[in-house]
Amino acid sequence: MADQFENIIVMGKSGAGKQPRIDVLTRTFGLRQLSTGDIFRKYLGLFNELGDERDLSRFHDAEAGGFITDDEIKKALNIAGRDDADGIVLGLKARYFVDQGLFVPDRITNALFESAFKSMGCRGVVLDGYPRTVDQAKFLVSLVERANVKLDAIMLVENEDDAIIERTMGRRICKSCGEVFHLEFRPPPEERMFECKSECDIVQRSDDTVDSLKARLNEFATKTQPALDFLLEKGIPIYRVPGNLPDYSPDAVQASVFEVMGIR
Ligand code: AMP
Repeated sequence: MADQFENIIVMGKSGAGKQPRIDVLTRTFGLRQLSTGDIFRKYLGLFNELGDERDLSRFHDAEAGGFITDDEIKKALNIAGRDDADGIVLGLKARYFVDQGLFVPDRITNALFESAFKSMGCRGVVLDGYPRTVDQAKFLVSLVERANVKLDAIMLVENEDDAIIERTMGRRICKSCGEVFHLEFRPPPEERMFECKSECDIVQRSDDTVDSLKARLNEFATKTQPALDFLLEKGIPIYRVPGNLPDYSPDAVQASVFEVMGIR
């Protein structure tokens, strides 16, 4: 079934259960996953390595139109001259928004997405977590037109806010490989599970707090839903899959994905 799709967009609220459905798509159709959230977490990790836990709002002044200049940030962090200084600044900016459950501004997100998408040849990709705003959706449509590739379908993972909050609070992630676990539904191996935050592999995402999650759900309703409407107006077909299954198992997830796609 490889080569059947050029690109598929996977959308859904944060914590709706996109990853297991993405796994089915990459496995079945030979696609590769591109996640803007993972890109941001990579840069965020660079900033985190500095160990600077001070309040990031000192770098940001919304009324004045955003962050102080990159050079000022580098100076304040004492990193001017380092090879990875630009990545650290990007990580600081990403963390400022990600930890509050807010979307990273379109200008930053579009530029990072474009570079990653182009490096993958603009085809054979499952787009995870992008686009999330109307501006990003417009940017993507024009990018694929210029690259002469298709957006074959949207897979929308549907889930209720209450179920998402319950599910997300149990989510744990391996900080070495990014594998996602759940304390109840998919417990991580015990030997990798410690209570300390610094030494263990299995950690809670820094943005998996109730406040941040509620902010992300609000961002979805106000910004991502209109982006989805825009893509549907463009005529891109949609597959709606349930994010909550009565009996959860990898086989059941695959069956539900295949069912909506009409695959036997
Ligand atoms: P995710 O792993 O997809 O839940 O993304 C984690 C966080 O990264 C989000 O809550 C946002 O702060 C940020 N993020 C990821 N993708 C985007 C996007 N397309 N636009 C803006 N912010 C994003």
